[in-house]
Amino acid sequence: MVGYMKIGILALQGAFVEHAAMLDRLGVQHFEIRQRRDLETEFDGLILPGGESTVMKKLLYELDLLDPLIKKIQEGLPVFGTCAGLILLAKQVNGGQLCFASMNITARRNAYGRQLGSFYACEKFADTKAVPMTFIRAPYIESVGKNVEILATVDGKIAAAQQGRQLVTAFHPELSEDTTVHQYFLEMIG
Ligand code: GLN
Repeated sequence: MVGYMKIGILALQGAFVEHAAMLDRLGVQHFEIRQRRDLETEFDGLILPGGESTVMKKLLYELDLLDPLIKKIQEGLPVFGTCAGLILLAKQVNGGQLCFASMNITARRNAYGRQLGSFYACEKFADTKAVPMTFIRAPYIESVGKNVEILATVDGKIAAAQQGRQLVTAFHPELSEDTTVHQYFLEMIG
């Protein structure tokens, strides 16, 4: 199944190359979404990388990608948001709405514990195993709403969650060698 999948990676800004490398390692086809025309390609899942969520939102809007992507997500396109990608999907961000607002989570930007910089953890992910977690000016999930399953917590804060076919991590699994989280996403699609 994995061999036939095609994943679109939002490639406007941020850490998209690392996601592509991870999918290469897993033998999954992918392509970059940079402009409206790229959405003519058929694809089975979408990755929203880390970076700067406010910049990504601005570019999505300017490039006329915001509405078509919201529509696809609402129609059930599987999506995986890491860090800034989590912020784009969250229904509430620091008390307001930021971007797609498709997932029943409340996110707080740049506020993971006291550590505003980068840090590293290794905690259990879903029902798999402990995975390496790199946090870079990460958000955390303050609370989750209906139909959201918590997949990981770090220092008592929610670091990964899933709602149907939407998966988010506050950390960057693409920056480690461990393929667990990406495999989880691919299985979610399959
Ligand atoms: N701090 C960034 C934001 O608010 C997210 C950081 C990241 O993606 N590594 O969008």
